[in-house]
Amino acid sequence: MANSFMQLYLSRTFKIIKKYKLVLPGDKVFVALSGGKDSGACLWTIKKYVHLNNINADVVGFHLNFGLPHSDKVQEVVEKQAKKMECKLEVVNVKDYGIDMQKLDTRKRPMCSYCGTIKRYLLNKVPRELDATKLATGHHMDDFLVFFFKNLLTRNYAWITKFKPLLAGNGKMLTRIRPLYEVGGRENEELCKKEDIPFLEEDICPYAILGKRADPKLRKCYELLYSVESWQKDFRLLMIRSMRKVIKYLPEEKQEYKYCSICGEPTSQEICGFCKIKNELEKSKNKN
Ligand code: SF4
Ligand code: ZN
Repeated sequence: MANSFMQLYLSRTFKIIKKYKLVLPGDKVFVALSGGKDSGACLWTIKKYVHLNNINADVVGFHLNFGLPHSDKVQEVVEKQAKKMECKLEVVNVKDYGIDMQKLDTRKRPMCSYCGTIKRYLLNKVPRELDATKLATGHHMDDFLVFFFKNLLTRNYAWITKFKPLLAGNGKMLTRIRPLYEVGGRENEELCKKEDIPFLEEDICPYAILGKRADPKLRKCYELLYSVESWQKDFRLLMIRSMRKVIKYLPEEKQEYKYCSICGEPTSQEICGFCKIKNELEKSKNKN
């Protein structure tokens, strides 16, 4: 049984990596690590793929320490993951980039929203400056399916076209890869348990309860996938494969990037979200 699970996991993930050329000789892949099962499984999969196929590519774990009350605990788990997988780890403290998360005004905006903006910015900027060729994330098929249905309901078709195993980079935007495209949260958890990969069992962030992940509707969507799968074998896999086909017929929105007039990073506006947060902090410091 253990063997058949592993064979299935490896065949699904390796097939995606090969087909979409997610990891090639000469690549320097940064894997975003959050301490959770999905990013842990993502690092394990890429390391295994590189090793078994004897590919001359660098794999580096990358973690953002947000400086929130639980952040050091998360970092400890990430360090254990990297050690277990014999992987180099780069850790960046958000504070070193001029943002003290604890001073942000959460009456203006939820903490998770600040976090998201900062994460998107630093996950692109830092690895790129450290010569990464690609950024790998632990997004998996359950995530893509839930957001596929959500965006279908709101007719946000352009957004759906981004749900691919590889999002090619553009200018200062780093190429993003999603090797877990055909496995879901349940499979990642099983893999981590079988391989003894440490991970945080649940969201330990004190703000999680107010965040999107705690949204009961969203949780129900994830549960629904598994509930259908209980009577329709391979429902998620069949759906994600259909989704990939459907995406081809949807008009792709070419995203034109400008460069932030303050920091020079890609943004759709005059000033990027990250610099706006820094400005907000600066203003409140001057007020006090
Ligand atoms: Fe950030 Fe929200 Fe995650 Fe906490 S739960 S780390 S605030 S995104
Ligand atoms: Zn900026």
